[in-house]
Amino acid sequence: PPRRLEVALPGRRYEVITGAGLLGRAGALLAPVLLQKRAVVVTDSTVAPLHLQTLTDGLAATGITVDSLVVPPGESSKSLAGFGDLADRMLALGVERRTTVIALGGGVVGDLAGFVAASVLRGMPFVQVPTTLLAQVDSSVGGKTGINMKAGKNLVGAFHQPIAVLADTDVLSTLPIRELRAGYAEIVKAGLIGDVALYDWCESHAQDVLGGDAACQAEAVRLACAFKARVVGDDEREEKPNDGRALLNLGHTFAHALEAEMGFDGSLLHGEAVGIGLVLAFRLSHRLNLCPGQDTVRVARHLQRAGLKWRLADCGRPLDPERLLAHMRKDKKMRDGRLSFVLVRGIGEAFTSPDVSDADVLAVLAG
Ligand code: NAD
Ligand code: ZN
Repeated sequence: PPRRLEVALPGRRYEVITGAGLLGRAGALLAPVLLQKRAVVVTDSTVAPLHLQTLTDGLAATGITVDSLVVPPGESSKSLAGFGDLADRMLALGVERRTTVIALGGGVVGDLAGFVAASVLRGMPFVQVPTTLLAQVDSSVGGKTGINMKAGKNLVGAFHQPIAVLADTDVLSTLPIRELRAGYAEIVKAGLIGDVALYDWCESHAQDVLGGDAACQAEAVRLACAFKARVVGDDEREEKPNDGRALLNLGHTFAHALEAEMGFDGSLLHGEAVGIGLVLAFRLSHRLNLCPGQDTVRVARHLQRAGLKWRLADCGRPLDPERLLAHMRKDKKMRDGRLSFVLVRGIGEAFTSPDVSDADVLAVLAG
C-alpha cells in the first residue's frame, strides 16, 4: 500500500505519496486535491514513451481530462526559450487557473513545468510525479522551480509548492543505473546533514536500493523525503541565515564548481558531482579540526562501494584548484561577497560557516 508523508508549511500542507503502482492510480490519489477535473501533463521525450500512457490512463480512469506536452530531454529545456515555448503551448490548450499542471519526469521537467505552473495565469496548481531517484528524493519536494540563465544554473525561478507529490518506485526500473546512483548521492547527503539513522540505513541498504529492490527504494525515498520535508517545513523560502534550507547545500558549493568546470556534457552528473563534493566538504571540515578524520574515510568508502565518483581524480581529467575556486565565487550562495560553506562536525551534524579561507579551500582541492 502507498505510504503518505506530510509536508507542513505555514498556511498549507501537501502529501508525498510513495510506493509502487501509483501512476496507474493517479486519478484516485489526486482526486481529493484537484480543483478541476482537468490536467496537463508535462514530460520529456525519453519519459513519454515509457510512462506517459500509464499516467494518463490512471487519470482518465476517474474522468479527468488530460492533455500532454512533451519537451526535449536534458538541461537545455530548462531555459528561457524552453520556458517561453512551454508557456505558449500551455496557453494554446486554453488552460484555466484551476487546471492542474503535472510534471512527469526528472528534475529538469519538474523545475521547468513548476516554473510554468508558477507563472502562467499567475499561478496554476502543480503536481510532481518524479521519475528519477534524484527528483523523488530531492527536487520534487520543497517548491523550488526555475530555469538556467547565461550567468548560471537556476538563477531565475519561483517558489511554487506542489499540491501533491507521487513518487512511484515502478518508474525507477527504466532509469539507467548511473542516474540511479546519482540520485542515491542526494539520499546520502540528507543523512550526512542531519539524520544519522538515515546515513546508517544507507550503509546497510545501498546495494538493495541500487540493485532495484522496490521495497528498499520506497523506504529510501520515504526517509529522504521525510528529512527534506522537515527542513523545508522549517524554512520554506531559505530565509534562515545559518541553518534550515541552506544546509541542503552540503557538498554543493564544490559540486557546482565541478559541474561548471567539466561542462554540462553528461560526463559528470549532478549527483556524481555531489558525491565528490560531500567528501570534499568532510575533508575541509577535518582540515579545520571540526570533524574526525574517520568520518571522512567512512563517507568516502561508502560512496566508493556504491559505485559513485568520490574524489577529484574520478572526474577523468586534472582540474585546476584556482579555476574551481573562481567558479565558487560565482555561486549564487555567496553572501555579502563571502563564500559561505556548509561544514560538518561529524556525520549528521552539518552547519554553515561564513569564514573559510581561500587557502584552506585550495589546500583541499589540491589533494
Ligand atoms: P533529468 O531530469 O535531466 O533526468 C535525467 C535523465 O533521465 C533525462 O534524460 C530523463 O529523460 C531521463 N529519465 C527520467 N526519468 C526516467 C525514467 N524513469 N526512466 C528512464 N529515463 C528517465 O535530471 P535529474 O537528475 O532528475 O534532475 C536534475 C535537475 O534537477 C537539474 O536541473 C537540477 O538543477 C534540478 N534540481 C532541482 C532541485 C529543486 O529543489 N528544485 C533540487 C535538485 C536538483
Ligand atoms: Zn543536489
